[in-house]
Amino acid sequence: MIAIGGAGKEMDGMQGTLPWTSDVVVVGAGNAAFCVALAAAEHNASVLVLERAPVEEAGGNSRFTAGAFRCVYDGVEDLKALMPDLTEEEIANTDFGTYSEEMFFDDMGRVTEYRTDPELCELLVKRSKETMRWMRSKGIRFAPIYGRQAFKVDGKFKFWGGLTVEAWGGGPELIAGLTRSAVKNGVKVAYEARVLSLIVDDDGVKGVRVRHNGHTTDVAAKCVVLAAGGFQANTEWRTRYLGPGWDLAKVRGTRFNTGDGIKMALDMGAMPTGNWSGCHAVGWDRNAPEFGDLSIGDNFQKHSYPFGIMLNADGERFVDEGADFRNYTYAKYGRVILGQPGQFAWQVFDKKVLHLLRDEYRIKRVTKVRADTLEELVQKLDDVNPGRALATIKAYNAAVKRDVPFNPNVKDGRATIGLAVAKSNWANTIDEPPFEAYAVTCGVTFTFGGLKIDTDGRVIDLDGRPIPGLFAAGELVGGLFYFNYPGGTGLMAGAVFGKIAGTIAGRRAAQIP
Ligand SMILES: Cc1cc2nc3c(=O)[nH]c(=O)nc-3n(C[C@H](O)[C@H](O)[C@H](O)COP(=O)(O)OP(=O)(O)OC[C@H]3O[C@@H](n4cnc5c(N)ncnc54)[C@H](O)[C@@H]3O)c2cc1C
Repeated sequence: MIAIGGAGKEMDGMQGTLPWTSDVVVVGAGNAAFCVALAAAEHNASVLVLERAPVEEAGGNSRFTAGAFRCVYDGVEDLKALMPDLTEEEIANTDFGTYSEEMFFDDMGRVTEYRTDPELCELLVKRSKETMRWMRSKGIRFAPIYGRQAFKVDGKFKFWGGLTVEAWGGGPELIAGLTRSAVKNGVKVAYEARVLSLIVDDDGVKGVRVRHNGHTTDVAAKCVVLAAGGFQANTEWRTRYLGPGWDLAKVRGTRFNTGDGIKMALDMGAMPTGNWSGCHAVGWDRNAPEFGDLSIGDNFQKHSYPFGIMLNADGERFVDEGADFRNYTYAKYGRVILGQPGQFAWQVFDKKVLHLLRDEYRIKRVTKVRADTLEELVQKLDDVNPGRALATIKAYNAAVKRDVPFNPNVKDGRATIGLAVAKSNWANTIDEPPFEAYAVTCGVTFTFGGLKIDTDGRVIDLDGRPIPGLFAAGELVGGLFYFNYPGGTGLMAGAVFGKIAGTIAGRRAAQIP
């Protein structure tokens, strides 16, 4: 049996048959599901986690992440509470800044064009700090994201973009730690246990029908919490809801999030809500496999485009690569790349910024070309019109405002002048060899549409009433994200709403004889 990350025997899951009953059944075994399970267990509920994937692939999208959590902190003391391992030297050498509730609200409002559900958004923001502390109390370790979210200026690291904390060891260790903690707290976990449907009567949800190790069986429950992810791995639903062309996107994460949790709730009258035609999608290696590969994790992403330019098959730029910090543009640019001829683009950089490229540019499985002249480079860009590409780069170089200094830590205003497609910040000329280019296509991360829940995590029906016994948390909840997404909010939302749903479900189960 292959263990997840550093987890041991507990990751083997339950052997033999499933129990015929459990106070709380949780569908899925990602970050949201384990936060549900841990919170429910605090109320002495018996908790059964049912995970569709085999243990080798379990942990959902959460396991694919780098583990970045967007959370409120009012200064270094808040960070020390989360990361007691922070050394005095690190504190002295780092400008962590703050990330206030107001800043988090502003970011959510701005990137979702003020469509985010105000009640859910308020919970997300206001509970983020305490939920992180609670996770820490459950044994989850955190660390500052030095590698990706801070640049060194004058010998001192400076964090930018509101994203400072990640789970130590990234997604694999996050899932391993949550699993360890859940098992220690008496939660039972079964792998290869695909929940097929909800068992309901006139009084609400009474359990689940599940296929476990090839056998279909029923498990009775006082509460069922759906945490089975979005529908991004379902090609047919992607095309149906996101629109034509989305069948051609690659899936960044797990192949198991096919919308099962959403479907089983809709089948019993749950209310769909949110941005059903929207999703989180990024620039992703053009030759990446159809679904995520856990040995690569999130490293097929290519997120340093703010420091270069992107060219499509016609050799044209098509988007403002420097419109904002990458945390506020990356999740919507996948869609823009999908809309280009052939659904791909090349990211182009020169020597001046190569040292700023994120780690993911240095993996072995990367679609990359390198050249010493621009003329040679454009010939190497597969499927691109080389003449147009060269003309575009030259026109771009000529348009750069060279008198504004380049500074990767702030929106530096080093822009282009007079181009049809502007670059608003970090516009360096591309004129110093060696030149490098990386081919990307669209990688879909997760879908935004989902189930309507109330502030207790209860699933709401088509008449606007909570469905007794049914809760939801994580990616399959609709209403939080529209059009775009501030980086690190998926895990935070899963944890906040997972804890809420688990608490209310655990309490409810305790009241039912
Ligand atoms: C490559 C990548 C990098 C990312 N990086 C970050 C990041 O750094 N920070 C961040 O905040 N977000 C990140 N995200 C987004 C983040 O992964 C998700 O928002 C979050 O993990 C969702 O958690 P979840 O628990 O809702 O779903 P998941 O973690 O996907 O868990 C859902 C689980 O449900 C299971 N399941 C599905 N159907 C069934 C069924 N019928 N029965 C039983 N089980 C079922 C699946 O197997 C899966 O294990 C990233 C995503 C990807 C793909």
